[in-house]
Amino acid sequence: MTDTIIRSVKGMHDVLPPASRTFAQIEAEMRRVFGRYGFAELRTPIVEETRLFSRGIGEETDIVAKEMYTFCDRDGTSLTMRPEGTASAVRAYVEHGLAASDPVARWYYTGPMFRHERAQKGRYRQFHQIGAEIFGLSDAAADAELIHMLADFTRGLGVRGVALGLNSLGCPVCRPAYRAALGAFLAGAAGRLCEDCQRRRETNPLRVLDCKKEGCRDATADAPASIGHLCAECAAHFAQVRAWLDAFGDAYALDPRMVRGLDYYNRTTFELLATDPEAGAQNAVAGGGRYDGLVEMLGGRPTPAVGFAIGVERLAALVPSAKEAPPPSVDVFVMAVGPGTVVAAARLASELRAKGITVELDGSEKGFKAKFKRADRSGAAFAVVIGGDEAARGACAVKALASRPLPDGVKQVEAPLDGAAAFIAGMLA
Ligand code: AMP
Repeated sequence: MTDTIIRSVKGMHDVLPPASRTFAQIEAEMRRVFGRYGFAELRTPIVEETRLFSRGIGEETDIVAKEMYTFCDRDGTSLTMRPEGTASAVRAYVEHGLAASDPVARWYYTGPMFRHERAQKGRYRQFHQIGAEIFGLSDAAADAELIHMLADFTRGLGVRGVALGLNSLGCPVCRPAYRAALGAFLAGAAGRLCEDCQRRRETNPLRVLDCKKEGCRDATADAPASIGHLCAECAAHFAQVRAWLDAFGDAYALDPRMVRGLDYYNRTTFELLATDPEAGAQNAVAGGGRYDGLVEMLGGRPTPAVGFAIGVERLAALVPSAKEAPPPSVDVFVMAVGPGTVVAAARLASELRAKGITVELDGSEKGFKAKFKRADRSGAAFAVVIGGDEAARGACAVKALASRPLPDGVKQVEAPLDGAAAFIAGMLA
């Protein structure tokens, strides 16, 4: 028997009710809060040409090097299930020529992302992100406003126990000198680095600072920090980001080790981390930063940009309502029993739903006993019974269920079908 059960793919999960309610709550809050900041929703395809990600995210990143779901289309084109949303947003921005019309775009998006990672708690192969991007603004105010929007959004969801880390990675002017200083330091510490970091030391030394292994962290504890090597423009930009964050009242801590896993960042980077030790290594709830070179790298005009992505599963774990039992969602349980009851039951259910009342309609062949059992479990306040006799009289019986007695302790009343919806709505009010 068990051999025949088909399960979801490893690392890819169903989101069942009531957890799906938390997802919906998060999405509603996303639209409400982001809308207030002037952001509009972007929807892009889930599949893109592979070269968008290899060029946009960077061949050397873990994502491109080993985590992408890549396959050949029937015409031989290499396609990839998107591992993140920024590259697609940039592609859309360039493809639709937005830089020429109105270079400033504020977009948000949500949807599934795919990475073939080692599946474990908080790390999945299909997960969901909410992202926001601002194109066309280079000012520090844009970085800070985006960070503030992230803080506003999580606060609105009642999330506690998160801390914001902030760093600046510099720009193509100051990065080479920093890379050289870091490279020299890492050469001295090479013997203490893990195998991966030995390789990264040559290919992408900043990523060594991101390694979670204790040995590497110890070995790089005194590594030079990028904020100590910023050019004058980057230093001024970073100071302004901090001044704006102070003005917004957003708390943050400088995190000189935060380099982020994607290659395209410059200047500001930030991460929202869950502080509860239970979150373990998967404690990054959101991350983002400035990526002023990416639009040009993907064929557009040079356009500054800044963005973030939130992991919805990790955020949902911090939303307080996720831990509460959901309230019963059905108001009225309509049951049709016997011949000649279909039209009356369908009409009444439609009228009730049109009034905003939640109805579970049981039109099965089962008898009263089974239907009342189901009605009790539904959490509905009332059962409305339409049997053959009632239907013939143009009436229905409204019966109190455990959760809501009828007035004067009456257990059941008969109501004419015409006007029954208004009568029931009145009792629910
Ligand atoms: P990134 O696109 O790597 O900067 O990730 C942004 C956010 O997405 C992270 O802070 C996580 O919350 C979430 N995230 C990234 N990878 C995964 C994954 N494999 N499973 C669950 N969430 C993830």
